Amino acid sequence: MTFKAGECIFEEGDARSFAYIIEEGEIEIWRETDGNRVVLNVLKSGSMFGELALVDAQPRSASASARTDSILTLVTQEQVNNRIESSDPILRMLLLVVMRYFRAEIDRIRPQNKNSESTLDPKINNNLHLGSHLSPQDLEHRISEAVEMIRMESELQTAIHEGQFRLVYQPIINLETTEIAGFEALIRWQSPSRGFIRPDLFIPLAESTSLIIPIGQWIMRQALDDLKKIQTAGHDNLFMSLNIASRQIEDKNFISDLLQEVDRVGVKPAQVKLEIIERSLFDLNVSLPWVHQCREIGFPIVLDDFGTGYSSLQYLNQYNLDTIKVDRSFVMQMKDSKSSANICRTIVDLSKYLDMTAVAEGIEEKSHVDLLKEMGCGYGQGYYFAKPANIEECLKLF
Ligand code: C2E
Ligand code: CA
Ligand code: CA
Repeated sequence: MTFKAGECIFEEGDARSFAYIIEEGEIEIWRETDGNRVVLNVLKSGSMFGELALVDAQPRSASASARTDSILTLVTQEQVNNRIESSDPILRMLLLVVMRYFRAEIDRIRPQNKNSESTLDPKINNNLHLGSHLSPQDLEHRISEAVEMIRMESELQTAIHEGQFRLVYQPIINLETTEIAGFEALIRWQSPSRGFIRPDLFIPLAESTSLIIPIGQWIMRQALDDLKKIQTAGHDNLFMSLNIASRQIEDKNFISDLLQEVDRVGVKPAQVKLEIIERSLFDLNVSLPWVHQCREIGFPIVLDDFGTGYSSLQYLNQYNLDTIKVDRSFVMQMKDSKSSANICRTIVDLSKYLDMTAVAEGIEEKSHVDLLKEMGCGYGQGYYFAKPANIEECLKLF
């Protein structure tokens, strides 16, 4: 859009429409106070203005006019919304807090509001893209949740240095022979202040920061040391399954770090299985070369939680994967739900046709074992056989 010198772009109180990037010219941001025009800022090419209203959906807090002939690029509501909605939840909440503070300050310094307290109307929050559809109470709750996540993140950092993590292992059983084929390593966090924290609470947080990288390095060291202990106890050909987060797949050093550990402890790459979820395969540019490289070295790839995501056959077609894990939700409902049982059977069949191994998770009863064996499922894992336990207890399982 072009504006002539002196032309108004928007006025204080206008409903939001766009933000602007100045391509050419100068823009004056101003406000009228006691009948006088007070210039707040003069912006030059390359600057952006009007973004505030796009972020929190409030009326314009100041006016903008072209000081010279100007050319502007428009930034639309959708462009901003999409980015906010796909951003990290902690960032979103921080942004929300900052916006509320900023608006309250603007209101406070406005001459007509000199005597009032913060005049931010709580109803206003309902319009925020940052927390749309939330009541003020829910919004407060979300903010304190975000603050809590930040706190937990700092504690995770300490946890790495202070050795608060433990690994437990759950055996994966050959259903035909009932022998232990391998173990899955599962992390535990015993926090001095919070007590025991479930991995599905802190792993996604570690993954949304890059803390999963040092945590993952610790996991691979520890798990391979323990695989070595299992070997030394006379169980040579067992495998260790490691859960690998998307961030680790993106980490350029991951494969070389893992190879180094494999060499250090002296196990075969074929004994170290990497469990990934389907979502980690979305970015083909990253995941295709990663999977190929792993397979070339000999690390088997396991598709975890199969059936819960998109269960796209395209991935099974494009990637050379070793194992499909039937998600525990199907196994656990198998007895009561015919469709769950049929889904199990179909996934097991699919694995056979594709020359892959199937592992059923969440086996809690003998009847699950019987049904899965009848379906031809090769391997299983669950509380019926053993709960995850530390390495000393696992060694006694043999
Ligand atoms: P997952 O990879 O699907 O791990 C299996 C989960 O099922 C484990 O929960 C295990 O304790 C649980 N489980 C095993 N057998 C049974 C059963 O018979 N019944 C029921 N109800 N549950 C069973 P856990 O250890 O709480 O782990 C939860 C999730 O956290 C894991 O799901 C995985 O996504 C993640 N996670 C755990 N450890 C790690 C890790 O070292 N690295 C990464 N990246 N993620 C991990
Ligand atoms: Ca897993
Ligand atoms: Ca799983």
